[in-house]
Amino acid sequence: MDPLSRRRILAASAAGGAFTTIAATTAALAQGQPPQPMRDGRGATDPGPRNVAADADNPDLLAPPLTDVGDLPNLKWPFGLSHNRLQAGGWARQTTVREFPVSKAMAGVDMRLEAGAIRELHWHKENEWSLMLDGNARVTCVDENGRNFIADVKKGDLWYFPSGLPHSIQALDQGCEFLLVFDDGSFSEDSTFLISQWMAHVPKSVLAKNFAVPEDAFAKLPEKQLYIFKAPVPGSLASDTIQDPAGPVPNPFVFRMMDMQPVKCPGGNVRIVDSKVFKASANIAAAYIEIDPGAMRELHWHPLSDEWQYYISGKARMTVFGSGENSRTFDYQPGDVGYVPQTMGHYIENIGDEPVQYLEMFTGPRYTDVSLQQWLALIPPELVKEHLNLADSVIGKFPKEKQLVIAGTPPGKQPG
Ligand code: MN
Ligand code: MN
Repeated sequence: MDPLSRRRILAASAAGGAFTTIAATTAALAQGQPPQPMRDGRGATDPGPRNVAADADNPDLLAPPLTDVGDLPNLKWPFGLSHNRLQAGGWARQTTVREFPVSKAMAGVDMRLEAGAIRELHWHKENEWSLMLDGNARVTCVDENGRNFIADVKKGDLWYFPSGLPHSIQALDQGCEFLLVFDDGSFSEDSTFLISQWMAHVPKSVLAKNFAVPEDAFAKLPEKQLYIFKAPVPGSLASDTIQDPAGPVPNPFVFRMMDMQPVKCPGGNVRIVDSKVFKASANIAAAYIEIDPGAMRELHWHPLSDEWQYYISGKARMTVFGSGENSRTFDYQPGDVGYVPQTMGHYIENIGDEPVQYLEMFTGPRYTDVSLQQWLALIPPELVKEHLNLADSVIGKFPKEKQLVIAGTPPGKQPG
């Protein structure tokens, strides 16, 4: 590194504040120099060998804030590091407890289907929640009382299939990509109950008896699982509607999340979708969060569940406080999964120049969180003062309402 850029990076590091390492990383990369593990006057250059792309994506691991301490487990897993299963007509990759050991409570699958392609008829023990990320699809499900559900979903829509109920997903004319979330980290997309495999592993005489048809009706059953396969794009929803003598399911398995009015916050928007509004979603709750550049999801924790995150846009960082001398900071980009064990304190800060959009996923029927500011605003100020040595004027500013997303100044526009 030439002395000039070295001096610039050291100067940026010495300036202090939230964005110094990000600013230093950006400045170094702009000059064709790798970012260095230096922050706030500490550290030294890394002569290599090194993975510069990984370092650039993880500036808060390369040069952690000096407040980081202890040995919290890894809390970041990019879907790009998961095995991708390529099939004719699509692909699927998963992030489970096998890839991401801390994620015991939830697992996720990122799946792509070309126009017409089908995710085979199947069922599984776990509840399934999904966000359509791109394109459109038709989903079907039948419940234990013989009530059916058939609907089309588009970008921004959610679905929820309760434990054990059989379902299917077929891409429509645009094809689709969607995120699936399951309420058990040990879920595996490769061990769901597939209709093709069950039929292949029952004597043909039993199939004939069960369906009251001759055995040769089953001569062409597939010998191997289908999983994801190509098919023609189906006709209109009306042409696919089946009149059900038991009637439709009582609570729709699809929820149009983007039709919901968001909670407007000082630094962004929040949509909370739990069983209060999406009644079918009995054991998975979600929050879809948008954070403006420079703004921050406030310091908080979740009393009742671990949090599984999926980053959709922008650049974010999160510090998780795991009690005692344990606190670690991670950086997130689109396609990354983040995780926060139950009751651990955290914030999510937008450190880029475009909005951060991400999902917070929880197990259980209700979304719950506890806000640090709100807590301190609702107890006697003297008590807060005795703990933190804060001035009355500072304590007096703590809002009694939850802020959720706090406004802030974007990087590069810091005062001074
Ligand atoms: Mn499924
Ligand atoms: Mn949270």
